[in-house]
Amino acid sequence: MSSLALTAARASLLSCHMCHRLNTSSPPLSADSTVCCSRCGMELHSRKPNSLARAWALTLAAMILYVPANILPIMTVISWGEGEPDTILSGVIALIEADMLPIAALVFFASITVPVLKLLSIIYLLLSVQTHSTWRLKDRTTLYRLTEGIGRWSMIDIFMISILAALVKLEAIATIEAGPGAVCFAAVVVLTMFAAESFDPRLIWDVTEQASHD
Ligand SMILES: [Zn+2]
Repeated sequence: MSSLALTAARASLLSCHMCHRLNTSSPPLSADSTVCCSRCGMELHSRKPNSLARAWALTLAAMILYVPANILPIMTVISWGEGEPDTILSGVIALIEADMLPIAALVFFASITVPVLKLLSIIYLLLSVQTHSTWRLKDRTTLYRLTEGIGRWSMIDIFMISILAALVKLEAIATIEAGPGAVCFAAVVVLTMFAAESFDPRLIWDVTEQASHD
């Protein structure tokens, strides 16, 4: 067995989420005891409470909403009084047909690749923690950091619709209206951001603690 560094949890130390004071809690914490910060009074937790259940609930909600986000029209471009509603995919195809490849690639990346990869990586992280996997702990922490960091960039798509709508309104020849798909898509982005936020990456490493106790 490799020698393990002393962890804060084993040393009965708890960091405050609010003021970051390092609190001592003796005797060692049981799973459901509540301890408060000695400086600001905030409730202390050694791990985010109900991290897995919250992350799963938010991830499942995002997965469900991802279906209408792709099926329902995300926007309608009305020019000269006529227009057809576009879903994400038909919008990408329309952009390719209009020879706007870089924008098509950006939309495809931001609204199809990123959300799917993000959902898959959160599901993988949740499953690997629940199965007490000891496989590539450091890489999984990196995966979590990427997942958490990339989330906000999916909003590019929503920003693009709003910017397009504003620009086109100025032209007064065409109008762009956001469709119900855009609302679902924005909800998917926000829910996956919250899901990544609810997941406690320290849970990935807790398996080494459990292994040392056995
Ligand atoms: Zn505090």
